[in-house]
Amino acid sequence: DSTSSSSSRLVIPPHTGFKKVLVTGGAGFIGSNVAEQLLARGDHVVIVDEMNDYYDVRIKEANLSRLVRLASNNHDPDSLKIYRGDICDEGFMLDLFERERPEWICHMAARAGVRPSIQDPYVYIHSNIRGTTHLMELAHRFGVKNFVFASSSSVYGGCKSTFFSEEENVDNPVSPYAASKKACELLAYTYHHLYNLNVSGLRFFTVYGPNGRPDMAPFKFIDRVARGMELQQFGDGSSSRDYTYIADIVDGILRSIDRPYPYQVFNLGKGSGTSLKEFISIVEKHVGQSAIIKLMPDQPGDVPYTCADVSKAYELLGYKAEVTFDEGIRRTVDWYMNEYGKSGGSKVEPETQANGMGRA
Ligand code: NAD
Repeated sequence: DSTSSSSSRLVIPPHTGFKKVLVTGGAGFIGSNVAEQLLARGDHVVIVDEMNDYYDVRIKEANLSRLVRLASNNHDPDSLKIYRGDICDEGFMLDLFERERPEWICHMAARAGVRPSIQDPYVYIHSNIRGTTHLMELAHRFGVKNFVFASSSSVYGGCKSTFFSEEENVDNPVSPYAASKKACELLAYTYHHLYNLNVSGLRFFTVYGPNGRPDMAPFKFIDRVARGMELQQFGDGSSSRDYTYIADIVDGILRSIDRPYPYQVFNLGKGSGTSLKEFISIVEKHVGQSAIIKLMPDQPGDVPYTCADVSKAYELLGYKAEVTFDEGIRRTVDWYMNEYGKSGGSKVEPETQANGMGRA
């Protein structure tokens, strides 16, 4: 077995045999990337996704098409199953579990987005809290070996500190979205306590990369600079956030799937921050165009610097983000230019949120 020490990286034993993993939200940004890596290493993947229109559904359809192509290259027709439906639908989900009997769950389905959750809290309570409870109930009833789910850095929203460790008290969530993720963590503890379910909650810090969500700052910044549209810079540009490249997040998720713990919460971030000013200049460099910046006053409640302490994920999972922000943006811009070109494209949703550096 692998060993852990503070100086050497934990080595996860080579993957043997295949796992059957239920990936909820598998048509979404992070879920489809996890599914892709699971298929690539020979696991069997069952996807459930309701294909909601929080952002353009064609992006999710394209994600699923990529997976179908990959599975057909594997020449194993059983390696990918796709179900369209709501994880809260009890009959549908029971039927899915009876048919598929997944032993691992990677639960990525949720209504994401901090600001929209203030406008419409009920949909967040439905998908995030009710949906997660329902899955945990099924996980316990069907003897699932490991339940890994997406929490979020937004649970740190009400915290005074800026370098977030899992030890931090996160009892003051400042949006319905953050409260729903905190609720999932509490329920996870309860299901572990009652039924010994192995469950790990992963607090992602703003994830970006190719096929990234169009409602999030990295996509929007690239899109606006490429299209010569105005970009809002709040404050003096020195505020800084932790951004994580999609491949690093997927690596952390796979490590967590492969290494069940009775109950754990992990930060998955890059472990260092990027200031808004740096962010914009890196985007300008890779797009090859200057940003048109509109200076805006600091937003009330904005914190100057937030960053993930990823030492626990390093110690217990061997997780360490490898992709620098500069390299991650370069890859994302390459993808964007291929997909949309400089004039933007029909897949890009009209903006529904302020153009800030919100968490997801
Ligand atoms: P996403 O919106 O691209 O993917 C979520 C998917 O879940 C969507 O395809 C959606 O249709 C599906 N879904 C939502 N509710 C559902 C339901 N009730 N039943 C079935 N399917 C449902 O979002 P993402 O960025 O891939 O995020 C994945 C997870 O990570 C989410 O739980 C999100 O809250 C969390 N997260 C993401 C980030 C980030 O930066 N992207 C940061 C922190 C946490």
